Amino acid sequence: ESAVRAKTTILPQFWHDRVVRDVPYQYIKNDGTVIDVLLDSVVMDDPVWGTISLSTVRNITLRKRAEEETKRTKALLNSIIENLPNPVFLKDAKELKYVLWNKASEELYGYSSEEIKGRTAHDFFPVEQADRFEIQDRETLSKGDLLYVPEQIVDTKDKGTRIILTKKLPILDDEGKPQYLVGISEDITERKEAESALIKAREAAEQASRSKSEFLANMSHEIRTPINGIMGMTELAFNTDLTVEQHEYLEAVRISADSLLKLINDILDFSKIEAGKLELIDVDFGLRDTIADTMTMLAIQAHKKNLELVYQISPEVPDAIIGDPGRLRQVLVNLIGNAIKFTDQGEVVLGIQSGVESQNAVHLHFTVTDTGIGIPSGKQEKIFREFEQADGSTSRKYGGTGLGLAISSRFCEMMGGKIWVESEVGKGSTFHFTVRMALQKGGIVQITDGQISDLKGLSVLVVDDNETNRRILEQILRYWGMHPTVVDSGSGALDAMEKAHQDGAPFPIVLTDCMMPGMDGFQFVERMNREARFATPTIVMLTSAGERGDAARCLKLGIAAYLLKPVRQSELLFTISRVLNAPQESQARPSLITRHSIRESRRRLSILLAEDNAVNQLLATKMLERMGHAVTTAGNGIAALDSLEKTNFDLVLMDVQMPEMDGLQATKILRDREKKTGGHFPVIAMTAYAMKGDKERCLESGMDGYISKPITAQELYETIEHVMGSLEKDSRQLPIPAKVAQVLDKTVILDRVGGDVDLLGEIISLFLEDSPRLLAEIREAFQHRKPALMEKAAHTLKGSVSNFAAESAVQAALRVEGIGRSSDLTEAPQAIMHLEREMERVREELVALSQEIRP
Ligand code: ADP
Repeated sequence: ESAVRAKTTILPQFWHDRVVRDVPYQYIKNDGTVIDVLLDSVVMDDPVWGTISLSTVRNITLRKRAEEETKRTKALLNSIIENLPNPVFLKDAKELKYVLWNKASEELYGYSSEEIKGRTAHDFFPVEQADRFEIQDRETLSKGDLLYVPEQIVDTKDKGTRIILTKKLPILDDEGKPQYLVGISEDITERKEAESALIKAREAAEQASRSKSEFLANMSHEIRTPINGIMGMTELAFNTDLTVEQHEYLEAVRISADSLLKLINDILDFSKIEAGKLELIDVDFGLRDTIADTMTMLAIQAHKKNLELVYQISPEVPDAIIGDPGRLRQVLVNLIGNAIKFTDQGEVVLGIQSGVESQNAVHLHFTVTDTGIGIPSGKQEKIFREFEQADGSTSRKYGGTGLGLAISSRFCEMMGGKIWVESEVGKGSTFHFTVRMALQKGGIVQITDGQISDLKGLSVLVVDDNETNRRILEQILRYWGMHPTVVDSGSGALDAMEKAHQDGAPFPIVLTDCMMPGMDGFQFVERMNREARFATPTIVMLTSAGERGDAARCLKLGIAAYLLKPVRQSELLFTISRVLNAPQESQARPSLITRHSIRESRRRLSILLAEDNAVNQLLATKMLERMGHAVTTAGNGIAALDSLEKTNFDLVLMDVQMPEMDGLQATKILRDREKKTGGHFPVIAMTAYAMKGDKERCLESGMDGYISKPITAQELYETIEHVMGSLEKDSRQLPIPAKVAQVLDKTVILDRVGGDVDLLGEIISLFLEDSPRLLAEIREAFQHRKPALMEKAAHTLKGSVSNFAAESAVQAALRVEGIGRSSDLTEAPQAIMHLEREMERVREELVALSQEIRP
């Protein structure tokens, strides 16, 4: 039925053409389903049937479905491609005209699909870019393979230039010939920007960390230089006539500058640790001596607060170790300083134990116990962090920066140990810390058990007017197992000897201070020698300052040894064992009493000072002038070289950082000139960059010595002496690392305070307050012809100035004291004037020293 229908619909044409092909039609099958068919029919003339049509029907249902499927898939693909976030395009392979251009392409390039279809890249893009696209396209098509185009910059209509990645791929026809070209791109502009921002940030960070050490150097320069100026100028102002009010104001300036300097030191230390710039050194040292020195200076602080300060070193603790004694001392000074600060009554005890770590190393365990205010348990961990204090109000009452423990904690870590605290509020605290130290293979004066056991049970008489000294001596001697009896004067000593004599147990050995009020050490020995009934003990004399003729006097009086204070523990032990074992060969130590002759023959130099900072220029000039030198100044390297050409100088002090031409350049030029002219002109560098490698740079550039700023009179003096002295001997001598050799006295002073600038500042300010009063007393005593008063004041002054190893001043005071004692005042005016001059010099050196920063 349907076939007939089919035929009838095509009938007229059919009968005319007598043939039809591929007539699409639908058949309804018996089961009712509809199928798609194609119909072919021909008309034939048959002898039997007449004209007939012959038809074949092909069922095309499946093909049709497939076609529809393809259509749908195409639509789906199209929609996917359209909506892909990546720009996608299709070009015909022949003319490279765009066939497809998805939305992302529209967005990227700013041209719509309608605009671009049927046109080529040259119709839209700059020639260079279109050419580039074409070359890539042709390459892809000719290779017949995927082409990956790495980052390229493309121009767009309204997004400027963008960075894209593109994959290009040929689409082949049935015969394997390229028909289309597909391109898929990715806009990576944002990613690249983020990446380069990241790289920039990283580079900046690296640069920052590289600059950190420079920054530290700059910071120390930038902050210390003005503080140096403030402190120096304040001190100079103190030397002028001041009203009481002005004096007070200046005092406040001085104290503020002092604490600022301390804060900067702490921060510098801390940031150096943070930046990994702080390195520990490894040197051989004697633990007991280091501890004794540290305790001696802390004793002054403890003494002021009437606190007992004691230490106990377990016998098993080795003495000869390798490590950084300066940093170890810094930790101890911090902890013990805190203990003293936070304790109002009772005691502070340092204990040291050790455990063997290996054959070459030892583990030291230090404890610092106080009976102070204690630390609440919630705060016990926090205080080791920077800027943390147990009580916010503490800093107001007790001062401090909250950096001490943080720094100590880092030092302990660097020394292979740790730090912790046990504490109870109101009862006190015990700070523990451990460090790991290598053991020496021998070398240092070892305190051997043999030496100590020699002394066990020996009774000893200690005579010293200073309580702290007495306490320390007593403790050392007890530690060695000796039985000390301590007295505070020569007459007390004679009494003690009398009693010992009566008890039938005379002292085999006497340690006596030399300078004591009333009866001094020599007088005491003289008196003792006169008492024939006393069995003559071995006598060791301790003195703060040697005097000419002491050696002869010692020999005459039969004194076995003569030691300069502060006495190191090893030195004392060595001396005691030696004099006890071989009293007949004992003798005074001449080196100790000739030391003070060094400074006598100073010569007046003509010095060129090249320095651009006005304050520093003034300070250095004043310091040099007070040393008796003539000073000419220059503001930069060029001016300095100019002056050197024109005038005859003995020496140039060259600031390293100067505008126009710095000190290093100027020195190089000078040295080059000398290659032609011969000779070697002494140059001393001055630099605020106290960083590693600095000194080397100065010496490399041909400088002969090196002073780091803030300069101190002492360092200046010693460096000049060193450079001039050595150059005079041999003018062709190689550069001398001046700083290494010349700081002996300063080292002694700093050593005495264990590097504690704070304490040193305190001692110095005390001294600066006290000494003018004593000088005034001396003058007054002289005016009123009271030799005894003069002697007393000079003695006290001598005692306090000897703390600073200032020998000429000690000598000057000694002379005044002697004049007072002799009651013949003819030489007094001259001696007092000399003393005043010397004291002035000491004051100045101390002021400068108090500005000095720990390395
Ligand atoms: P600073 O003493 O300069 O403030 P530190 O880091 O040395 O800084 O100490 C941090 C804080 O720890 C102190 O402010 C104090 O509150 C507490 N502290 C340290 N030592 C003691 C101690 N021995 N007794 C009580 N409190 C202490």
